[in-house]
Amino acid sequence: MSLYRKHLETLRRAFPQPVSDQEHDAWFVFSVLRALDRVDAMKSQRPILGEPREIDFSLATQCTVQEHMQTVESVSRELVDHLEGMFIWGHPRSQINVIPPPCIPGILGTLLPAIYNPNICGEEASRGVAFAEAEVISMTAALMGYDPKRSGGVFTFGGTGTLLYAIRLGIEKALPGTFQNGFEGDIPVVVCSSQSHYANKTAASWLGLGLRNVVSIPSAPNNEIRMCLLESELRRLLREGRKIACIVATTGTTDAFGLDNLEQMRELRDTLVHEFSLDYVPHLHADAVIGWAWSVFSDYDFTSNPLQFPDRTLRDLAGTNRRIRHLNLADSIGVDYHKTGFVPYISSAFFVRDACDLKLVTRDQSTTPYLFQSGHYNPGRFTLETSRSGSGPLSALGALQMLGKTGLRTLLGHLVTMAETLRNRLAAHPAISVMNPENFGPVTLFRVYPDDVDTFEFPRLEQNNADFADKLQQYNEYNRRIFRAVQTEALQGEGVVISMTDRYRETEYGKPVVALKSYIMSPFSDQQYVQAVVESIDRARLKVNAEKQA
Ligand SMILES: *Cc1c(COP(=O)(O)O)cnc(C)c1O
Repeated sequence: MSLYRKHLETLRRAFPQPVSDQEHDAWFVFSVLRALDRVDAMKSQRPILGEPREIDFSLATQCTVQEHMQTVESVSRELVDHLEGMFIWGHPRSQINVIPPPCIPGILGTLLPAIYNPNICGEEASRGVAFAEAEVISMTAALMGYDPKRSGGVFTFGGTGTLLYAIRLGIEKALPGTFQNGFEGDIPVVVCSSQSHYANKTAASWLGLGLRNVVSIPSAPNNEIRMCLLESELRRLLREGRKIACIVATTGTTDAFGLDNLEQMRELRDTLVHEFSLDYVPHLHADAVIGWAWSVFSDYDFTSNPLQFPDRTLRDLAGTNRRIRHLNLADSIGVDYHKTGFVPYISSAFFVRDACDLKLVTRDQSTTPYLFQSGHYNPGRFTLETSRSGSGPLSALGALQMLGKTGLRTLLGHLVTMAETLRNRLAAHPAISVMNPENFGPVTLFRVYPDDVDTFEFPRLEQNNADFADKLQQYNEYNRRIFRAVQTEALQGEGVVISMTDRYRETEYGKPVVALKSYIMSPFSDQQYVQAVVESIDRARLKVNAEKQA
């Protein structure tokens, strides 16, 4: 046998077998099991795999492809080693960010396409997996109040991708023909709140609008867009003859779960179209990548409260529902299943209320590839991506089927209950001020102050009065030190890993306000871990005070 044939024989064992071979299947599963065993050995009581470590990225420049083949087994070991130092998002001592621990059906939805590799560019190369995309789009559309017979949607590469689609459609509405001819003079603007995600800027700059054509409207203390300022700014832009490509309502801001008033934004948009006799309707997009999941409460019976949530939780959920139930007023919506849907990255979808809108960005406009009823499913004719993974839709389908409305309500209700408990404990602490006390979501932002600060008075002063700029800076630094102490302790397995945001918002005089942040996403979170946050902060304060004295 030639040498290459020998190698080939070895290599064939490194692939799943094309024809049923249960012995090989067992070996395949066993290699997965062994990898999981190795990961398991990295677990402790701490919310981290293995040891925290500093990575020296300069070492990467020395890496080359070796001459020889390696066994599946040895490569598996090497891959698992790369997980060392990862936070375990599902650990009850993790309250870091809006990163969910994926559920098992969500993981299976990623694993199966990884083996059979559907390409959902079109149905030819993906069959039932393409159908999964159509299913999830319809299920979610209905959940959010769209009519699935009229609406459309498509999976894309993240929440950023959903904004890219929204703004692209908006450009085409404001300046028809741009898809064909490019910009020919007018550059339209995107309007969003100061608390909106920077992905708006990414999308606007990549689409050639330029960062300076993203107009940021100040937000209120509860982190929602200030409607009066939105109105005056839109009027100003229209009077100046500017075209408006997209108005973005952030429904669930990233750092503070602020919810823009979509109902009023829609009303305002419609009034202005009429008043200025516009020959186009500025596109209204809901960036609901975080908030979408709360649509499971739109038909929850808040009066009889069948899931028996505590009163405070019920009020929070109703408060969110008050805004989220209007999602269907938006022309398009962005959804991240990988944020509040408990599935692995990347699983995001873009929805349009009227599927015909997708025609605006379809390369061959004589066909209608965007309607599920039309027979052939060919999203590749309008999607930004060419090859598209089936894992986004299939894992979203897995999670939605397993959870149902009851499961999502239960998980979200629990996370909000835990956050509410934390807010209560923090608010009761004389040295802590909760920065988003009116909040209805799973995220809590707070600032810790030294002993001599009056936390009833001071947070308002530093926010509004430039005389306190030095103090603000001093306490920003104090919070950074508290954060480092809490972090160190958490990595030793005592406290809880939280995070810090350098600019949770700006003061009235334009300075960044640092805040500590707890984002509860783990189904395993519980009372004692919430208490652990407060205890850890108390120890951190003692430590930081002692450092100061020294
Ligand atoms: C996370 C986030 C985005 C960006 O989404 P990715 O999935 O990370 O690309 C956009 N908008 C909001 C409000 C977000 O929280």
